[in-house]
Amino acid sequence: MISVEEALERVLAAVAPLGEEQLLLDAAAGHVLAVPVVAARALPPWDNSAMDGYAVRASDAALATGDDTPGLPVVATVAAGHSPAPLEAGTAVRIMTGAPLPRGADAIVMKEDAHEQDGRVRFTKAPGPQAHVRRAGDDIAHGDTALAAGTLLGPGEIGLAAALGRTVLVVHRRPRVAILSTGDELVAPDRAPGPGQIVGSNAWALAAQCREAGAIPVVLPFAADTPDAIRAAFTSALRCDAVVSSGGVSVGEFDHVRDVLDSLGVKQEFWRVAMKPGKPVAFATRGEVPIFALPGNPASSMVGFELFVRPALRRLQGMSGDALLRPRAPVLLDTALRHDGGRRHFARARVRRDGVVLHASPQSRQGSGMLRSMVGINALLDVPGDAGALEPGSTLDAILLAPL
Ligand code: AMP
Ligand code: MG
Repeated sequence: MISVEEALERVLAAVAPLGEEQLLLDAAAGHVLAVPVVAARALPPWDNSAMDGYAVRASDAALATGDDTPGLPVVATVAAGHSPAPLEAGTAVRIMTGAPLPRGADAIVMKEDAHEQDGRVRFTKAPGPQAHVRRAGDDIAHGDTALAAGTLLGPGEIGLAAALGRTVLVVHRRPRVAILSTGDELVAPDRAPGPGQIVGSNAWALAAQCREAGAIPVVLPFAADTPDAIRAAFTSALRCDAVVSSGGVSVGEFDHVRDVLDSLGVKQEFWRVAMKPGKPVAFATRGEVPIFALPGNPASSMVGFELFVRPALRRLQGMSGDALLRPRAPVLLDTALRHDGGRRHFARARVRRDGVVLHASPQSRQGSGMLRSMVGINALLDVPGDAGALEPGSTLDAILLAPL
């Protein structure tokens, strides 16, 4: 049995970003850039005004500042989208934000610091050279790497790519993830379960977790608990970029998943992790394809997904560093929590923020078969195996599943 940390390390070591695809700009949001965006133009493309005001030579404006000055003649107006004539010495030009700076001008006086009357303008404050001028290339120089490979594309990144004239970006593919449920007892939610049958709900929960992680779930038909059925199911599942199965991975008489994986020539990395819920969780690879065999109990499979599958799916998408893992934060227990099972417990909880302090209310019933333990939660509390009786007010580390 290995630790959660070691298991995660092995998972991340075994998976690498998927290949590339080209996407239109708006479809690329949420993907990771595979090829850098190099600026084919400067931003801004030319010197321009950051303010509505007057374009001047700073030395002229100094002489036109104060009450006893005739001011400068205002000889033209330049709006955004227009291209101005050069500025004659000793004159001023009305200029709007984003309009190109006339050649010869070296400063902008903002409108609020100017009085214009009868075609002449006086200033209340002398501008320094370059005041309110946005220089060509100030933001991005021509030839700069504007967005490095590995960048997660959010709204700002998409906006910058658009400003640089890009309509298509090369990004890492999202993984297609086969979701495979094993169990003779499973029926679809639209069927009335017969004697001994239950709805195979894991496929729905795991598919939703896949989507939340940025991956594309491919839900396969339920597989019966026979080696042949499980082998056939895994064989078709292995056409995807990753495989997530549930059930049949423990030590029961009808738990065939590990033997079947062996027979398929996979590389088994681990099959038990020191944690609760979800101790029997197997990880293997075949070629480039990671295979996660999660236990059947609903809470166990979802916690196993959260701890091991999600980071792997993020890595397949080209993410790295903080983007792979959920944030963690210390939380104060609102209610007592007892744990002395020996295995590290990931307790489902609701965390709320009170000022700068986070408070956690663990679900009152934490059974691995209890679907309700997964409802309304936004955190997993990382409870050490030897925690014993924790009083209200005790501090624990929480894995935050959603922004607070
Ligand atoms: P197993 O891991 O196959 O031993 O299953 C453990 C428990 O989880 C059993 O009570 C199963 O009936 C239940 N279970 C297995 N697969 C699913 C599933 N897809 N959806 C809901 N419960 C399941
Ligand atoms: Mg089973």
